Amino acid sequence: MKIIRDNKAATFTLVPVDKSERAVFGHLIPKLKNGDTFTYGGREDDGEYCKVRLHFGSKMVEKVERVGGITVHRGVEEGGICLVLNGSTKKDKLEVGGMRNSCYFGACSPIFLKTTKVSGVKSLVITLKLCKHCKAPMISMHACEWSTCNACAEKCQHTYKKGMVHGAGVGDMAVGEFCTKCGRGKPLTGNEPKKTQAQRHLDVERELGVHVMYHNSSATPSQIVAAEKAAGVIPTK
Ligand SMILES: [Zn+2]
Ligand SMILES: [Zn+2]
Repeated sequence: MKIIRDNKAATFTLVPVDKSERAVFGHLIPKLKNGDTFTYGGREDDGEYCKVRLHFGSKMVEKVERVGGITVHRGVEEGGICLVLNGSTKKDKLEVGGMRNSCYFGACSPIFLKTTKVSGVKSLVITLKLCKHCKAPMISMHACEWSTCNACAEKCQHTYKKGMVHGAGVGDMAVGEFCTKCGRGKPLTGNEPKKTQAQRHLDVERELGVHVMYHNSSATPSQIVAAEKAAGVIPTK
């Protein structure tokens, strides 16, 4: 699948490239009306990139299973059409990863806007969420997470609060000041020292009282910061 991002319109155009994708689009397109939504059905990760499942017209049903003597209840999408976003090129795969982050952190139900033709191939134009203030389409993770488009965030009378800020990556967190209404970060003055990840984690522990643990190491953020200082990675004063 080829994915074309339009930042200005805040849309993605999904272009089917192989036979099976064209078949799914063929089933899907006659059923879609402007404003119809897809349910985000999770990702399949191959370690480097991911595919994203979007369900249309499906129903959430509860499945009860016995796994190792434990009863597990889980929601499964049944029926409808499953559209798998599977990027063709590296660039397309990165777009799928970005869409996944917006859907996951922004709790998005992607919205069908219209069909279009790309080099003669019938394609779908979607956006990820609508702004809660002005209904503008949005695709960026941060805008979706706060349901506030960039134009509305610019008009916001910000009230900043100190708290945890995060990026899309695992462990990508820090203490920062952000607006409690639009979620945008307080503009930096440019004089802030650049911090290592361990320093940012140490801030999170000290200022927010949130304990940070690593999967691949038993070291604590303060031990790593001490090692970084000893190694001259960060200034000691
Ligand atoms: Zn808006
Ligand atoms: Zn604000």
